Amino acid sequence: MTRDLTGEFQIQRQAANQEPYPTLTVRRDRLARLARMTKHHQLEIIRAIQTDFGQRSDVEIRMAEISAVLHAVRHARLHLWRWMRPWAVSMPWRLLPARARIAPQPLGVIGVMSPWNYPWSLALMPVVDAFAAGNVAMLKPSEHCPMTSALLKRLVPQYFPPEELCVVEGGVEVATLFSRLPFDHLLFTGSNAVGRQIAQSAAVNLTPTTLELGGKSPVIVASDADLDQAAAAIIFGKGMNAGQTCIAPDYVLVESRRISELVKALSHAIQKQRPDDHSATQAIDATHQQRLDDMLAEAHDHGCRVIDHGQHAPALIIDPHQDLQVMREEIFGRCLPVIGVSDMQAALNYVNDRPHPLALYAFTSDKTLQQQLLHTTRSGALVFNATLLHHAVPSLPFGGVGESGMGAYHGRHGFERFSHLRGVFYQSKRAPSTMLYPPYRRWLMKLIGLG
Ligand code: NAD
Repeated sequence: MTRDLTGEFQIQRQAANQEPYPTLTVRRDRLARLARMTKHHQLEIIRAIQTDFGQRSDVEIRMAEISAVLHAVRHARLHLWRWMRPWAVSMPWRLLPARARIAPQPLGVIGVMSPWNYPWSLALMPVVDAFAAGNVAMLKPSEHCPMTSALLKRLVPQYFPPEELCVVEGGVEVATLFSRLPFDHLLFTGSNAVGRQIAQSAAVNLTPTTLELGGKSPVIVASDADLDQAAAAIIFGKGMNAGQTCIAPDYVLVESRRISELVKALSHAIQKQRPDDHSATQAIDATHQQRLDDMLAEAHDHGCRVIDHGQHAPALIIDPHQDLQVMREEIFGRCLPVIGVSDMQAALNYVNDRPHPLALYAFTSDKTLQQQLLHTTRSGALVFNATLLHHAVPSLPFGGVGESGMGAYHGRHGFERFSHLRGVFYQSKRAPSTMLYPPYRRWLMKLIGLG
Protein backbone atom coordinates (compact mmCIF):
# COMPACT_ATOMS: atom_id res chain seq x y z
CA MET A 1 0.00 0.00 0.00
CA THR A 2 1.38 3.41 -0.93
CA ARG A 3 2.10 5.65 2.00
CA ASP A 4 0.20 8.93 2.09
CA LEU A 5 2.08 11.81 3.66
CA THR A 6 -0.45 14.54 2.98
CA GLY A 7 -2.11 14.18 6.43
CA GLU A 8 1.17 14.82 8.25
CA PHE A 9 1.90 17.69 5.88
CA GLN A 10 -1.53 19.31 6.34
CA ILE A 11 -1.13 19.32 10.13
CA GLN A 12 2.08 21.31 9.69
CA ARG A 13 0.61 23.59 7.03
CA GLN A 14 -2.27 24.52 9.34
CA ALA A 15 0.09 25.16 12.25
CA ALA A 16 2.28 27.39 10.09
CA ASN A 17 -0.79 29.32 8.92
CA GLN A 18 -2.13 29.70 12.45
CA GLU A 19 1.16 30.98 13.81
CA PRO A 20 2.77 32.75 10.87
CA TYR A 21 5.28 34.68 12.99
CA PRO A 22 6.39 32.78 16.13
CA THR A 23 7.89 35.08 18.73
CA LEU A 24 11.51 35.01 19.83
CA THR A 25 10.42 33.14 22.99
CA VAL A 26 8.63 30.42 21.01
CA ARG A 27 11.60 29.94 18.68
CA ARG A 28 14.12 29.84 21.53
CA ASP A 29 11.94 27.29 23.31
CA ARG A 30 11.80 25.03 20.23
CA LEU A 31 15.58 25.26 19.94
CA ALA A 32 16.03 24.49 23.63
CA ARG A 33 13.90 21.36 23.26
CA LEU A 34 16.02 20.23 20.32
CA ALA A 35 19.12 20.65 22.49
CA ARG A 36 17.52 18.83 25.43
CA MET A 37 16.51 15.93 23.21
CA THR A 38 20.09 15.60 21.98
CA LYS A 39 21.71 16.11 25.38
CA HIS A 40 19.46 13.89 27.47
CA HIS A 41 19.65 10.94 25.10
CA GLN A 42 23.34 11.03 24.24
CA LEU A 43 23.99 7.44 25.16
CA GLU A 44 21.04 6.16 23.16
CA ILE A 45 22.16 8.24 20.18
CA ILE A 46 25.70 6.87 20.39
CA ARG A 47 24.42 3.32 20.66
CA ALA A 48 22.02 3.72 17.72
CA ILE A 49 24.69 5.20 15.45
CA GLN A 50 27.21 2.55 16.45
CA THR A 51 24.70 -0.17 15.68
CA ASP A 52 23.95 1.38 12.27
CA PHE A 53 27.64 1.61 11.40
CA GLY A 54 28.62 -1.71 12.95
CA GLN A 55 31.44 0.24 14.54
CA ARG A 56 31.95 3.95 15.00
CA SER A 57 34.24 5.99 17.21
CA ASP A 58 32.54 7.18 20.38
CA VAL A 59 34.56 10.43 20.42
CA GLU A 60 33.73 11.23 16.82
CA ILE A 61 30.01 10.76 17.48
CA ARG A 62 30.21 13.15 20.44
CA MET A 63 32.21 15.66 18.39
CA ALA A 64 30.48 15.56 15.01
CA GLU A 65 26.92 14.55 15.90
CA ILE A 66 26.08 15.66 19.42
CA SER A 67 28.30 18.72 19.93
CA ALA A 68 27.59 19.92 16.39
CA VAL A 69 23.84 20.12 17.14
CA LEU A 70 24.33 21.62 20.60
CA HIS A 71 26.68 24.31 19.27
CA ALA A 72 24.31 25.17 16.44
CA VAL A 73 21.45 25.56 18.92
CA ARG A 74 23.56 27.67 21.29
CA HIS A 75 24.67 29.96 18.47
CA ALA A 76 21.13 30.43 17.17
CA ARG A 77 19.61 31.04 20.62
CA LEU A 78 22.26 33.65 21.34
CA HIS A 79 21.99 35.62 18.10
CA LEU A 80 18.38 35.09 17.10
CA TRP A 81 17.04 38.38 18.50
CA ARG A 82 19.47 40.24 16.21
CA TRP A 83 18.74 38.09 13.13
CA MET A 84 14.99 38.59 13.55
CA ARG A 85 15.24 42.39 13.66
CA PRO A 86 14.20 44.09 10.42
CA TRP A 87 16.91 46.37 9.09
CA ALA A 88 16.65 49.69 7.29
CA VAL A 89 17.96 50.11 3.74
CA SER A 90 18.89 53.31 1.95
CA MET A 91 16.27 55.28 0.04
CA PRO A 92 16.86 57.04 -3.29
CA TRP A 93 16.61 60.82 -2.67
CA ARG A 94 13.75 61.08 -5.17
CA LEU A 95 11.53 59.01 -2.85
CA LEU A 96 12.46 60.68 0.44
CA PRO A 97 11.16 61.02 3.10
CA ALA A 98 9.80 57.46 2.62
CA ARG A 99 11.60 54.64 4.47
CA ALA A 100 12.33 51.03 3.54
CA ARG A 101 13.31 47.98 5.54
CA ILE A 102 13.93 44.30 5.06
CA ALA A 103 11.84 42.15 7.39
CA PRO A 104 12.70 38.43 7.63
CA GLN A 105 9.54 36.32 7.66
CA PRO A 106 9.17 32.57 8.24
CA LEU A 107 8.58 30.56 5.07
CA GLY A 108 6.18 28.04 6.65
CA VAL A 109 6.79 24.29 6.33
CA ILE A 110 10.35 23.13 5.70
CA GLY A 111 11.21 19.64 4.41
CA VAL A 112 14.55 18.13 5.41
CA MET A 113 16.01 15.02 3.76
CA SER A 114 19.20 13.72 5.34
CA PRO A 115 21.91 11.17 4.45
CA TRP A 116 23.41 8.34 6.49
CA ASN A 117 26.95 9.54 7.08
CA TYR A 118 26.21 11.88 10.04
CA PRO A 119 22.70 10.65 10.75
CA TRP A 120 21.99 12.81 13.81
CA SER A 121 23.64 16.13 13.02
CA LEU A 122 22.76 16.28 9.32
CA ALA A 123 19.13 15.53 10.20
CA LEU A 124 18.88 18.13 12.96
CA MET A 125 21.19 20.99 12.00
CA PRO A 126 18.86 22.09 9.18
CA VAL A 127 15.98 21.85 11.69
CA VAL A 128 17.88 24.21 14.02
CA ASP A 129 18.01 26.82 11.26
CA ALA A 130 14.40 26.16 10.21
CA PHE A 131 13.19 26.66 13.81
CA ALA A 132 15.35 29.77 14.25
CA ALA A 133 13.65 31.26 11.22
CA GLY A 134 10.23 30.53 12.76
CA ASN A 135 9.21 27.55 10.63
CA VAL A 136 7.91 24.08 11.36
CA ALA A 137 9.65 21.08 9.83
CA MET A 138 9.18 17.57 8.49
CA LEU A 139 12.22 15.31 8.54
CA LYS A 140 12.99 12.29 6.37
CA PRO A 141 16.15 10.61 7.73
CA SER A 142 18.15 8.03 5.80
CA GLU A 143 16.93 4.47 5.60
CA HIS A 144 20.58 3.34 5.74
CA CYS A 145 20.67 4.20 9.45
CA PRO A 146 17.50 2.41 10.64
CA MET A 147 18.39 2.51 14.35
CA THR A 148 19.08 6.25 14.36
CA SER A 149 15.98 6.93 12.27
CA ALA A 150 13.87 4.84 14.64
CA LEU A 151 15.34 6.71 17.61
CA LEU A 152 14.44 10.05 16.00
CA LYS A 153 10.96 8.74 15.30
CA ARG A 154 10.59 7.71 18.96
CA LEU A 155 12.19 10.75 20.63
CA VAL A 156 10.85 13.61 18.52
CA PRO A 157 7.19 13.16 19.65
CA GLN A 158 8.37 13.28 23.29
CA TYR A 159 9.68 16.82 22.71
CA PHE A 160 7.57 18.19 19.85
CA PRO A 161 3.93 17.97 18.79
CA PRO A 162 3.55 16.81 15.17
CA GLU A 163 2.66 20.33 14.07
CA GLU A 164 6.15 21.54 15.03
CA LEU A 165 8.39 18.66 13.98
CA CYS A 166 7.61 15.24 12.60
CA VAL A 167 9.75 12.38 11.37
CA VAL A 168 8.88 10.30 8.32
CA GLU A 169 10.72 6.98 8.07
CA GLY A 170 11.07 4.97 4.89
CA GLY A 171 13.12 4.05 1.87
CA VAL A 172 13.33 5.43 -1.66
CA GLU A 173 9.59 5.17 -2.28
CA VAL A 174 8.73 7.27 0.78
CA ALA A 175 11.62 9.66 -0.01
CA THR A 176 10.16 10.21 -3.46
CA LEU A 177 6.70 10.97 -2.05
CA PHE A 178 8.28 13.25 0.53
CA SER A 179 10.10 15.27 -2.13
CA ARG A 180 6.79 15.83 -3.93
CA LEU A 181 5.10 17.53 -0.95
CA PRO A 182 4.44 21.25 -1.50
CA PHE A 183 6.96 22.46 1.09
CA ASP A 184 7.87 26.13 1.34
CA HIS A 185 11.51 25.04 1.15
CA LEU A 186 13.17 21.64 0.85
CA LEU A 187 16.71 21.05 2.08
CA PHE A 188 18.27 17.88 0.73
CA THR A 189 21.63 16.53 1.83
CA GLY A 190 22.92 13.60 -0.18
CA SER A 191 24.37 12.47 -3.45
CA ASN A 192 24.50 14.44 -6.65
CA ALA A 193 22.43 11.90 -8.58
CA VAL A 194 19.55 11.86 -6.09
CA GLY A 195 19.83 15.64 -5.63
CA ARG A 196 18.96 16.12 -9.30
CA GLN A 197 15.80 14.01 -8.91
CA ILE A 198 14.80 15.89 -5.77
CA ALA A 199 15.18 19.25 -7.54
CA GLN A 200 12.96 17.97 -10.36
CA SER A 201 10.24 16.75 -7.97
CA ALA A 202 10.32 20.00 -6.02
CA ALA A 203 10.13 22.07 -9.20
CA VAL A 204 6.62 20.74 -9.87
CA ASN A 205 5.40 22.70 -6.81
CA LEU A 206 7.87 25.57 -7.36
CA THR A 207 9.38 24.56 -4.01
CA PRO A 208 12.75 26.23 -3.60
CA THR A 209 15.51 23.76 -2.76
CA THR A 210 18.84 23.81 -1.00
CA LEU A 211 20.97 20.96 -2.29
CA GLU A 212 23.83 19.96 -0.03
CA LEU A 213 25.68 17.54 -2.29
CA GLY A 214 29.08 15.92 -2.37
CA GLY A 215 31.90 15.50 -4.83
CA LYS A 216 35.66 15.29 -4.85
CA SER A 217 37.25 17.86 -2.51
CA PRO A 218 40.90 18.39 -3.53
CA VAL A 219 43.88 19.22 -1.36
CA ILE A 220 46.74 21.27 -2.80
CA VAL A 221 50.06 21.01 -0.97
CA ALA A 222 52.15 23.97 -2.12
CA SER A 223 55.93 24.15 -2.25
CA ASP A 224 56.14 26.30 0.91
CA ALA A 225 54.00 23.91 2.99
CA ASP A 226 55.36 22.14 6.05
CA LEU A 227 54.77 18.57 4.95
CA ASP A 228 54.39 17.08 8.43
CA GLN A 229 51.77 19.63 9.42
CA ALA A 230 49.95 19.27 6.10
CA ALA A 231 50.01 15.46 6.34
CA ALA A 232 48.66 15.51 9.90
CA ALA A 233 45.77 17.78 8.89
CA ILE A 234 44.98 15.74 5.75
CA ILE A 235 44.88 12.46 7.69
CA PHE A 236 42.70 14.07 10.36
CA GLY A 237 40.20 15.05 7.64
CA LYS A 238 40.39 11.74 5.80
CA GLY A 239 40.35 9.59 8.92
CA MET A 240 37.27 11.19 10.47
CA ASN A 241 34.31 8.83 10.08
CA ALA A 242 36.50 6.57 7.90
CA GLY A 243 36.48 9.14 5.12
CA GLN A 244 32.66 9.12 4.93
CA THR A 245 32.42 12.89 5.18
CA CYS A 246 31.13 15.14 2.41
CA ILE A 247 34.06 17.54 2.96
CA ALA A 248 36.71 14.84 3.45
CA PRO A 249 39.89 15.41 1.42
CA ASP A 250 39.27 13.29 -1.67
CA TYR A 251 42.70 13.50 -3.33
CA VAL A 252 45.98 15.38 -2.88
CA LEU A 253 47.95 17.37 -5.47
CA VAL A 254 51.63 18.04 -4.80
CA GLU A 255 54.63 18.94 -6.92
CA SER A 256 56.13 15.70 -8.26
CA ARG A 257 59.53 16.52 -6.76
CA ARG A 258 57.97 16.46 -3.24
CA ILE A 259 55.62 13.49 -3.68
CA SER A 260 57.77 10.87 -1.97
CA GLU A 261 58.47 13.20 0.95
CA LEU A 262 54.73 13.87 1.33
CA VAL A 263 53.87 10.15 1.09
CA LYS A 264 56.35 9.50 3.89
CA ALA A 265 54.78 12.25 6.02
CA LEU A 266 51.26 10.92 5.29
CA SER A 267 52.28 7.38 6.25
CA HIS A 268 53.76 8.68 9.46
CA ALA A 269 50.56 10.64 10.24
CA ILE A 270 48.44 7.54 9.55
CA GLN A 271 50.51 5.43 11.93
CA LYS A 272 50.26 8.10 14.60
CA GLN A 273 46.56 8.96 14.27
CA ARG A 274 45.08 5.74 12.94
CA PRO A 275 47.05 2.72 14.14
CA ASP A 276 45.09 -0.31 12.90
CA ASP A 277 42.49 0.15 15.60
CA HIS A 278 39.75 -2.41 15.43
CA SER A 279 37.33 -0.19 17.32
CA ALA A 280 37.61 2.57 14.69
CA THR A 281 34.75 3.65 12.46
CA GLN A 282 34.12 1.39 9.51
CA ALA A 283 32.33 1.60 6.16
CA ILE A 284 28.57 1.85 6.64
CA ASP A 285 27.81 -1.50 5.04
CA ALA A 286 29.20 -4.38 3.00
CA THR A 287 28.33 -2.70 -0.32
CA HIS A 288 30.35 0.40 0.55
CA GLN A 289 33.19 -1.73 1.89
CA GLN A 290 33.21 -3.71 -1.35
CA ARG A 291 33.24 -0.50 -3.44
CA LEU A 292 36.33 0.71 -1.57
CA ASP A 293 38.04 -2.69 -1.81
CA ASP A 294 37.35 -2.68 -5.55
CA MET A 295 38.89 0.80 -5.91
CA LEU A 296 42.06 -0.37 -4.17
CA ALA A 297 42.22 -3.61 -6.15
CA GLU A 298 41.75 -1.80 -9.46
CA ALA A 299 44.51 0.70 -8.61
CA HIS A 300 46.78 -2.17 -7.63
CA ASP A 301 46.02 -4.11 -10.82
CA HIS A 302 46.90 -1.02 -12.87
CA GLY A 303 50.35 -0.97 -11.34
CA CYS A 304 49.79 1.97 -8.93
CA ARG A 305 51.76 2.01 -5.73
CA VAL A 306 49.23 1.37 -2.95
CA ILE A 307 50.25 1.90 0.67
CA ASP A 308 47.67 0.25 2.87
CA HIS A 309 48.06 0.61 6.62
CA GLY A 310 45.18 -1.74 7.43
CA GLN A 311 41.44 -1.99 7.02
CA HIS A 312 40.72 0.89 9.45
CA ALA A 313 43.20 3.47 8.16
CA PRO A 314 43.48 5.70 5.09
CA ALA A 315 45.11 3.87 2.16
CA LEU A 316 47.40 5.90 -0.12
CA ILE A 317 47.25 5.40 -3.89
CA ILE A 318 50.15 7.06 -5.64
CA ASP A 319 49.60 8.71 -9.02
CA PRO A 320 46.50 6.76 -10.11
CA HIS A 321 45.41 7.02 -13.72
CA GLN A 322 42.45 9.37 -14.31
CA ASP A 323 40.33 6.55 -15.75
CA LEU A 324 40.36 4.56 -12.53
CA GLN A 325 37.20 4.45 -10.44
CA VAL A 326 39.00 6.15 -7.55
CA MET A 327 39.48 9.24 -9.74
CA ARG A 328 36.15 9.10 -11.54
CA GLU A 329 33.81 9.19 -8.55
CA GLU A 330 33.58 10.66 -5.05
CA ILE A 331 35.56 8.26 -2.86
CA PHE A 332 33.63 8.66 0.40
CA GLY A 333 35.93 6.24 2.17
CA ARG A 334 39.49 5.50 3.18
CA CYS A 335 41.28 5.64 -0.23
CA LEU A 336 43.49 8.71 -0.66
CA PRO A 337 45.06 9.30 -4.10
CA VAL A 338 48.25 11.40 -4.05
CA ILE A 339 48.96 12.94 -7.45
CA GLY A 340 52.14 14.59 -8.67
CA VAL A 341 51.87 17.80 -10.72
CA SER A 342 54.59 19.87 -12.39
CA ASP A 343 53.85 23.10 -10.48
CA MET A 344 51.12 25.03 -8.69
CA GLN A 345 49.62 26.34 -11.93
CA ALA A 346 49.16 22.72 -13.03
CA ALA A 347 47.43 22.01 -9.69
CA LEU A 348 45.05 24.95 -10.21
CA ASN A 349 44.33 23.82 -13.77
CA TYR A 350 43.62 20.30 -12.49
CA VAL A 351 41.05 21.63 -10.03
CA ASN A 352 39.50 24.04 -12.53
CA ASP A 353 39.13 21.32 -15.18
CA ARG A 354 36.77 19.43 -12.86
CA PRO A 355 33.36 20.17 -11.25
CA HIS A 356 33.44 22.75 -8.45
CA PRO A 357 34.08 20.90 -5.19
CA LEU A 358 32.36 21.36 -1.84
CA ALA A 359 35.68 22.24 -0.21
CA LEU A 360 39.09 23.14 -1.57
CA TYR A 361 41.99 22.72 0.84
CA ALA A 362 45.32 24.41 0.28
CA PHE A 363 48.43 24.13 2.40
CA THR A 364 50.35 27.33 1.84
CA SER A 365 51.16 30.56 3.63
CA ASP A 366 52.19 32.25 0.40
CA LYS A 367 49.89 35.27 0.18
CA THR A 368 50.16 35.51 -3.61
CA LEU A 369 49.12 31.87 -4.05
CA GLN A 370 46.31 32.32 -1.51
CA GLN A 371 44.99 35.28 -3.53
CA GLN A 372 45.32 33.30 -6.75
CA LEU A 373 43.32 30.44 -5.26
CA LEU A 374 40.71 32.85 -3.97
CA HIS A 375 40.25 34.54 -7.33
CA THR A 376 40.78 31.80 -9.90
CA THR A 377 39.09 28.72 -8.41
CA ARG A 378 35.54 27.97 -7.28
CA SER A 379 34.39 25.76 -4.42
CA GLY A 380 31.80 25.74 -1.63
CA ALA A 381 34.54 26.69 0.83
CA LEU A 382 38.25 27.50 0.58
CA VAL A 383 40.32 26.38 3.55
CA PHE A 384 43.97 27.18 4.19
CA ASN A 385 46.26 24.95 6.25
CA ALA A 386 43.52 22.80 7.80
CA THR A 387 40.77 20.37 6.85
CA LEU A 388 37.14 20.11 8.03
CA LEU A 389 37.43 22.89 10.62
CA HIS A 390 35.44 25.43 8.61
CA HIS A 391 32.36 23.29 9.32
CA ALA A 392 32.67 24.25 12.98
CA VAL A 393 32.46 28.01 12.31
CA PRO A 394 28.76 28.84 12.62
CA SER A 395 29.17 32.24 10.97
CA LEU A 396 30.43 30.70 7.72
CA PRO A 397 27.86 29.66 5.10
CA PHE A 398 28.01 25.90 4.53
CA GLY A 399 27.08 24.74 1.06
CA GLY A 400 28.32 23.95 -2.41
CA VAL A 401 28.47 25.62 -5.78
CA GLY A 402 27.74 24.06 -9.17
CA GLU A 403 27.95 20.27 -8.96
CA SER A 404 28.55 20.35 -5.20
CA GLY A 405 25.18 21.92 -4.54
CA MET A 406 23.24 25.11 -4.27
CA GLY A 407 22.37 27.30 -1.34
CA ALA A 408 23.99 27.29 2.07
CA TYR A 409 22.94 27.14 5.69
CA HIS A 410 24.39 27.31 9.26
CA GLY A 411 23.93 30.23 11.62
CA ARG A 412 22.62 33.45 10.12
CA HIS A 413 22.94 31.99 6.61
CA GLY A 414 20.54 29.18 7.58
CA PHE A 415 18.19 31.66 9.21
CA GLU A 416 18.08 33.68 5.99
CA ARG A 417 17.80 30.54 3.84
CA PHE A 418 14.61 29.57 5.64
CA SER A 419 13.21 33.11 5.79
CA HIS A 420 11.59 35.26 3.19
CA LEU A 421 13.49 38.54 3.20
CA ARG A 422 10.50 40.74 2.68
CA GLY A 423 10.92 44.22 1.30
CA VAL A 424 8.76 46.73 3.18
CA PHE A 425 8.15 50.29 2.02
CA TYR A 426 6.73 52.98 4.33
CA GLN A 427 5.46 56.09 2.61
CA SER A 428 5.70 59.23 4.67
CA LYS A 429 2.63 61.33 5.42
CA ARG A 430 4.76 64.30 4.44
CA ALA A 431 5.61 62.81 1.04
CA PRO A 432 4.95 64.95 -1.99
CA SER A 433 3.99 61.67 -3.68
CA THR A 434 1.13 63.05 -5.72
CA MET A 435 3.71 65.03 -7.64
CA LEU A 436 4.80 61.76 -9.24
CA TYR A 437 1.29 60.92 -10.42
CA PRO A 438 0.00 61.98 -13.85
CA PRO A 439 -0.37 64.42 -15.36
CA TYR A 440 3.46 64.35 -15.52
CA ARG A 441 5.09 67.72 -15.08
CA ARG A 442 7.98 68.47 -17.37
CA TRP A 443 10.06 70.26 -14.69
CA LEU A 444 9.64 67.35 -12.28
CA MET A 445 10.62 64.78 -14.90
CA LYS A 446 13.74 66.85 -15.56
CA LEU A 447 14.52 67.05 -11.87
CA ILE A 448 14.39 63.29 -11.44
CA GLY A 449 16.47 62.71 -14.57
CA LEU A 450 13.74 61.65 -17.00
CA GLY A 451 13.39 64.84 -18.95
P1 NAD B 1 21.61 9.62 -0.98
O1 NAD B 1 21.47 10.66 -2.02
O2 NAD B 1 21.62 8.20 -1.40
O3 NAD B 1 20.44 9.74 0.12
C1 NAD B 1 20.06 10.95 0.76
C2 NAD B 1 18.56 10.95 1.04
O4 NAD B 1 17.87 10.80 -0.20
C3 NAD B 1 18.07 9.85 1.95
O5 NAD B 1 17.15 10.40 2.87
C4 NAD B 1 17.37 8.87 1.03
O6 NAD B 1 16.26 8.27 1.64
C5 NAD B 1 16.92 9.74 -0.11
N1 NAD B 1 16.91 9.02 -1.40
C6 NAD B 1 17.75 8.05 -1.83
N2 NAD B 1 17.46 7.67 -3.09
C7 NAD B 1 16.39 8.42 -3.46
C8 NAD B 1 15.62 8.51 -4.68
N3 NAD B 1 15.87 7.74 -5.74
N4 NAD B 1 14.61 9.42 -4.71
C9 NAD B 1 14.34 10.19 -3.65
N5 NAD B 1 15.04 10.16 -2.49
C10 NAD B 1 16.05 9.28 -2.40
O7 NAD B 1 22.94 10.01 -0.17
P2 NAD B 1 23.70 9.17 0.92
O8 NAD B 1 24.33 7.97 0.30
O9 NAD B 1 22.81 8.96 2.11
O10 NAD B 1 24.84 10.21 1.37
C11 NAD B 1 26.07 10.29 0.73
C12 NAD B 1 26.17 11.49 -0.17
O11 NAD B 1 25.76 12.66 0.51
C13 NAD B 1 27.59 11.78 -0.62
O12 NAD B 1 27.58 12.14 -1.98
C14 NAD B 1 28.01 12.94 0.23
O13 NAD B 1 29.03 13.73 -0.30
C15 NAD B 1 26.74 13.69 0.35
N6 NAD B 1 26.74 14.52 1.56
C16 NAD B 1 26.71 15.87 1.42
C17 NAD B 1 26.75 16.67 2.55
C18 NAD B 1 26.72 18.17 2.49
O14 NAD B 1 26.51 18.80 3.53
N7 NAD B 1 26.93 18.78 1.33
C19 NAD B 1 26.80 16.07 3.81
C20 NAD B 1 26.82 14.69 3.90
C21 NAD B 1 26.77 13.92 2.76
